Amino acid sequence: MGCGVATLEHRHVGVMWKTVSEDCNLACDYCYYSTCGGKPGPKINRIDSAILEKFIKEYMARAQGAASFAWQGGEPLLAGMEFFEEAVSLQARYAPKGTSIGNSIQTNGTLINDRWAAFFKKYNFLVGVSWTVQRIFMMRGGWTRAGRAAFTG
Ligand code: SF4
Repeated sequence: MGCGVATLEHRHVGVMWKTVSEDCNLACDYCYYSTCGGKPGPKINRIDSAILEKFIKEYMARAQGAASFAWQGGEPLLAGMEFFEEAVSLQARYAPKGTSIGNSIQTNGTLINDRWAAFFKKYNFLVGVSWTVQRIFMMRGGWTRAGRAAFTG
């Protein structure tokens, strides 16, 4: 076989997840992705458990000493803590001995509380929080439909 294939097989490949598809609890004007207007439906669009397990099992079987998972959104925390507990449990179950597992998450930060903070610390997640002035006003209920900051307190 060509050496290109051999090289690819031995290169570490990370995985980026659109964790909850376009579901998000905010509605930034500049968003190019989410169309739910900050009102995700009652059923969050997260991956089915059986497919999650199948993927992690097969991915880990190809891990070359390292496995990395980047969780993005929409707003990935909408998947719920039980989803991420399931994911890290599957990672541990299927990782070959000695595999270094990395998890990073990119969030708008609005749903982080003490429980999430403890979870991230326990599993050593790298947490990226994106803040903009618009998001701060939206969280405080001061962003008008016309897209102007109305909250001055
Ligand atoms: S927080 Fe991110 S995903 Fe959600 S609406 Fe804003 S830019 Fe889009």
